[in-house]
Amino acid sequence: MIKINTCPVCQSQKIEVLKNDSFSPPTFINDDVPPIDCTYPEERLWILFKNILKTNTKADFAMSLCGDCGFIFTNPRYELGDIETKYSTVSALPSAKKRKENSPPKHTEKRAARIYNLLEKYPPKNYQSVLDYGGAEGYNLSQFVKAKKRCGVIDQVHENLISGVEFLGKDFSEPSHKFDCILLCHTLEHIPEPVEYLKEISTHLSDDGVIYIEVPLGAWKEFSRIKEPLTHVNFFSEEALFNVAKKAGLNVLHLSTNYQWITHYNLWCINMVCTKKEVGELVNALSTKSQMLNRKYQLLMALKEPSILLKWLKKKLVG
Ligand SMILES: [Zn+2]
Repeated sequence: MIKINTCPVCQSQKIEVLKNDSFSPPTFINDDVPPIDCTYPEERLWILFKNILKTNTKADFAMSLCGDCGFIFTNPRYELGDIETKYSTVSALPSAKKRKENSPPKHTEKRAARIYNLLEKYPPKNYQSVLDYGGAEGYNLSQFVKAKKRCGVIDQVHENLISGVEFLGKDFSEPSHKFDCILLCHTLEHIPEPVEYLKEISTHLSDDGVIYIEVPLGAWKEFSRIKEPLTHVNFFSEEALFNVAKKAGLNVLHLSTNYQWITHYNLWCINMVCTKKEVGELVNALSTKSQMLNRKYQLLMALKEPSILLKWLKKKLVG
């Protein structure tokens, strides 16, 4: 791990610490594997302390905000070797395997249709190929399959793919052609160097292709209440995600924040569509991190979403 004093996105030194968090190893830190029924945060803390930090004492993480680009991130940062350790450890843990088997993604068609319908507004002419990077079983591609597009998944783990979707390898070393559409869903929040990562992915995008990026709205509440610091390392506002895309040489066609279905529940997410081509100014105004951190903004979001309001009322009345 490495402690940094410049922003990982724009290299600014204007870094403000929003919050300091201290994490302790789980009670079973000396076990060879976590108990089969441990919780997700306990399991991640076990991986962090056992295989990355290799210590039994507490670890401190600063939640930092870049004053220039609005990027919120955990500090210290993971290095490439740490990330490899994380994924290789997860893939061998019985507890992680059991959790995945016990709760497969639900209503996958709903999410796939949402992504397909949004991308239909920004189609490259006669587009043919669609890639879901980190796409697991390929569920997000089901509507593209129906539309007879050539669909592929690149992922660290080779899952049983849905019909019509091809496994294209663990990384870009295998497919040689470029893609017209690339989906990157709930990935950038895990990546220590998001600009470099996006740059690399966009080299595999055709000249007039589009890339769809979906991340949690981490700048809202998530950054202030994480249970473990191994899973998410970036907490986006619209402003910060926009800046990541620009720094990666991409132009933003669409940017919006919605309360939407992901794999098991609804979550506030930022959706962005980018292209390598020059585009005009973004039509909708960008919400900055200060707007998104503001309670009035949160109230406004809640008012726009009746189900959140109902949930809140129920909590107040019942509990
Ligand atoms: Zn920055």
